[in-house]
Amino acid sequence: MKLTILPLGTCWSAHGVVTPGHLHDEKFSIPVSSYLVELDRGRLLLIDTGMSRAHISNPDATWAGTDFAEMLTPVMQPEDDIAAQLNALGIEPPQIDYVINTHLHFDHAGNNFQFINATFFAQREHYEHALGNPHFPNEYWNVPGLRYELLDGGGEILPGVEIVVTPGHAPGHQSVVLHLRRDGDLVICGDAIYLQDNLDLENWQAMADPEEARKSASRLTELEAQGARLVYGHDPAQVDVFPRAPHRYY
Ligand SMILES: [Zn+2]
Repeated sequence: MKLTILPLGTCWSAHGVVTPGHLHDEKFSIPVSSYLVELDRGRLLLIDTGMSRAHISNPDATWAGTDFAEMLTPVMQPEDDIAAQLNALGIEPPQIDYVINTHLHFDHAGNNFQFINATFFAQREHYEHALGNPHFPNEYWNVPGLRYELLDGGGEILPGVEIVVTPGHAPGHQSVVLHLRRDGDLVICGDAIYLQDNLDLENWQAMADPEEARKSASRLTELEAQGARLVYGHDPAQVDVFPRAPHRYY
């Protein structure tokens, strides 16, 4: 199994979006990523699909006229399109076999529609919560022809790929543990932990259910205590800690 972290642009955001009360209105740039996993026997898995390429020409494509327009501004260049990132590695989107969505927010499921041959894994509770819900823009993922396999809990779903259910950011949010042979266990947290500040400040107030989020984060830091490394959802400082494409983890 091999992992490549794909950089898919950034979002210009108020700190208040991730750590309410801390530098609340000050803006900073947060990375958006997808994770390409080359499974044994050549099967291809993506964890999350980033923001839609619609934002390259129109940063307001998703949030124009909503409360989020002021707080979140996608910043994408043509090379930040997930198809461009995959093409650079010699892969076309229809070759992707599986997609795990940690959750269905616009920056994690924004390109689901491009993966027409994939089986998508989401938690049933989350999927049902997101259906028709404007906080989870359905146009990117609830489209005819996509096949969702709905999960009721965690466990190993593919060889070396383990789901850990981490609610709080949203109902039925899930994180993914990758058991890499050389580089050890890497945990793709999704937005169960946005960035280090959530842990350092014990600030979970941006989460839909802060108490659940705190418990989920503890579950993940327990894995860290056992030797796993945590890849947070949107930590600008981790861009230097975890090298991205073309670097590969084995
Ligand atoms: Zn996110």
